[in-house]
Formats: sequence, C-alpha cells, structure tokens
Amino acid sequence: MDKAYMESVQNALVHTYNPAPIVLDHGEGAYLYDTEGKAYLDFAAGYAVNSLGYGNEEWNQALKSQIDHLAHTSNLYYHTRTKEAAEALKRVSGMDRIFFCNSGGEAIEGALKASRKYAYTKKSGRYEWIAMEESFHGRGFGAVSVTGHKAYQEPFEPLVPGVRFAKYNDLESVKELVTDKTCAIILEPVQGEGGINVATEEFLTGIRRICDENDILMICDEVQCGMGRTGSFFAWQQYGVRPDILTMAKAIGNGFPVGAFALTEKVAECSLNPGDHGTTYGGGPLACAAVAKTVEIYEREHLPEHTAKIGAYLRKQLENLAGRHTCIVSCKGKGLMQGIQLSIPLADVTKKALDRGLLLIGAGSDVIRFVPPLIITEKEVDELIRILDEILE
Ligand SMILES: *Cc1c(COP(=O)(O)O)cnc(C)c1O
Repeated sequence: MDKAYMESVQNALVHTYNPAPIVLDHGEGAYLYDTEGKAYLDFAAGYAVNSLGYGNEEWNQALKSQIDHLAHTSNLYYHTRTKEAAEALKRVSGMDRIFFCNSGGEAIEGALKASRKYAYTKKSGRYEWIAMEESFHGRGFGAVSVTGHKAYQEPFEPLVPGVRFAKYNDLESVKELVTDKTCAIILEPVQGEGGINVATEEFLTGIRRICDENDILMICDEVQCGMGRTGSFFAWQQYGVRPDILTMAKAIGNGFPVGAFALTEKVAECSLNPGDHGTTYGGGPLACAAVAKTVEIYEREHLPEHTAKIGAYLRKQLENLAGRHTCIVSCKGKGLMQGIQLSIPLADVTKKALDRGLLLIGAGSDVIRFVPPLIITEKEVDELIRILDEILE
C-alpha cells in the first residue's frame, strides 16, 4: 500500500521535495510511527517545530476546544484569544509589540518591511540591509534576498535590491559594509540551515554596538533557534543584548502554522501603521490558542531550563562519540540545537539512521543537526548515541 501511496503523492505534488520513503501516521512523546507500526526516534522534530513532542494531551485539547468555539475571524474584529498569545510572547521575549503571521518566511517579510518603514518615517534615506553569508531566512522574495546562499537566489534573480553580505562571526566584515544607507542588520544568533553556527559574544554585542552608534536596526531571526531551543526562550537573551526586531515561528505553535515578528516600542512608534502590512489568517483564534497553550506549558514545565541541561548532556555524549569516530570533524551548537560536522556524505548517514528507526536531518553541506523535541530525556539521547555508534565509521 505504502509504495503505491508514495507514488501517487509524487505524481500529485510539485517536485520541490524528496521525502524519505516512509509514511508517518502518529506520534507519542519523542517517537513517530509509520503506517506499518515502525517507531522512529525523532531528532528532527519537523525542523525544530514539535518542541512538546507528540500527543501532548493538554495542547491537543486546547486546539480541539478552540475549533468548537471559533476557528477564523480575520483582523477586522477582536477575538477572545489574542490577548493571551500576544502577552505570552511579549513576556518571554521582553519585546514590546507583536504581529502575528503564518510562517517564518512571512515573519521575515514583515520584519524587513518594518525596518524600511522605520527609515522612511525618519526620512533617513536608508534602505540597505546587511545580511550574513550562509544564512537562511525563508522562501519569499524578501527572505531569499537576504539569504546568503547562491543556490537559493540565482534561479530567481533579480531579487530585492539593497542587500550586502558579511561573514558570520567576522565583525570587521560587517563594519566594512556599513554606510549611511544601511537601515538594518539581519542575522540568526545561531545559524540553522547554514550548518549550526553559533554567534560569538563579541559578534552579537559588536553588531548591537554598530546599530546603536548609527541608528541602524538589529533584526534577530530566531525562527529556528528561538522558543527555548538553545536553553533560554530566545538565544540573544544569553548575550545580554536585545534586538530591535525579532522574528519567530517554528516552535511557537508547536506544530500549528504560526509565525510572528516583534518590535521594540522605539521601532513600533515610527514604523508600520494601519494599511502598511497585513494578513488574512495571521493571529487567528486557532493560532493564538496554540501559542498561548505552548507558552503556558513551557513556563510551567521550565522547558528552557530542561533544554539547557539535556542539551549539555547531548553535547557531552556527541563529543565522546567524536573521540570514537574519526569521520566526526567537529561538534557545535547550543542547547538542543547541536551539530556534528562530518567528513563522510550526509545522505549515507541519514539513510542508515532511517533504517534503524532514527530521524536525522542535515544542515549546510556537511553537518548532521540534532533538533529533537525539547522534552527529550537522557535515555533517548543514549539511544541516539547507540545508533550513531553503529552507523558511523
Ligand atoms: C525555517 C526558517 C525560516 C523560514 O520559516 P518558514 O516557516 O519555513 O517560512 C526563516 N528563518 C529561519 C532561521 C529558519 O530556520
């Protein structure tokens, strides 16, 4: 049945993906199950999305109950779920104002527009963005334009003008690109798709300083590294800086499609006004119910603290593993966003892992990334290591 099913799917969809040859049916905790009942330990979490794992009864119930109340209204009217969700994101981020959208890419589009509108309001004549090499910000034209990777850009050129690329973790390369036309600097505090690259303290605080000295806005893209993944709600909180604009998505809805960008009051005052930006679905009752319940569970269960602890355990086990396998070139990451850089092809490793019931994803050209549900236990980390020990040279 599954082979025929997968063929039909391939024939019905645009060929933008190469899915692994399994058909998933349901999940429980950190495990997913396919239609044949085979279990998979999930170190991908749907690209760092399913932080509470699968089958969280409380979260499921919150969504079911919201469906029975109200699913969609548009932003023409208030509804009863916005307050909880917006205040929850304000509380955990320390930012001042939230705009809800439906994905990470949309959050980036809104953040870029907000930064240009800020410059427009201030009549500063600034419009350029500085972005980072090896970054990833999504698939829309604005997001692709600030994504520092030729493969994502070239087929779609010409892109949005006014973008310059600096080297990640090289503050001098950023300084060289700053002009009186720069309106914002955009970066991921931990690069995900680019290969799990962690910003140095000098880099992040240095960018904050450049922004402060030149009235340039700092945009932190925490679509992947945010929402507890690195051991604090947002990664920049560990650096003692605050961005002017923050983008979020992936884990904030624990699998319900929702994104958001947040502004400080300083930006909000001089930026988007009614008519400047919008979305039909964004901030709907279901998305807000998902965000509010997800944050509530995170706070009650102290999930960021758990992540820091279990992330340190994972890192230690990966470093031990590197001592036993010469194909591991380096270990890198923060919290439960870890990577191992390999000297062997990634596809061989992910395929062998799949056969043994372990879901892994690559990052960049030579990194296996580990972004499991944040509820993962030491026992499940041990299981990961046991399987990696078997399949690595
Ligand atoms: C995934 C990702 C995006 C894009 O999010 P989508 O929801 O896929 O549009 C943007 N930025 C970063 C850092 C991401 O990891």
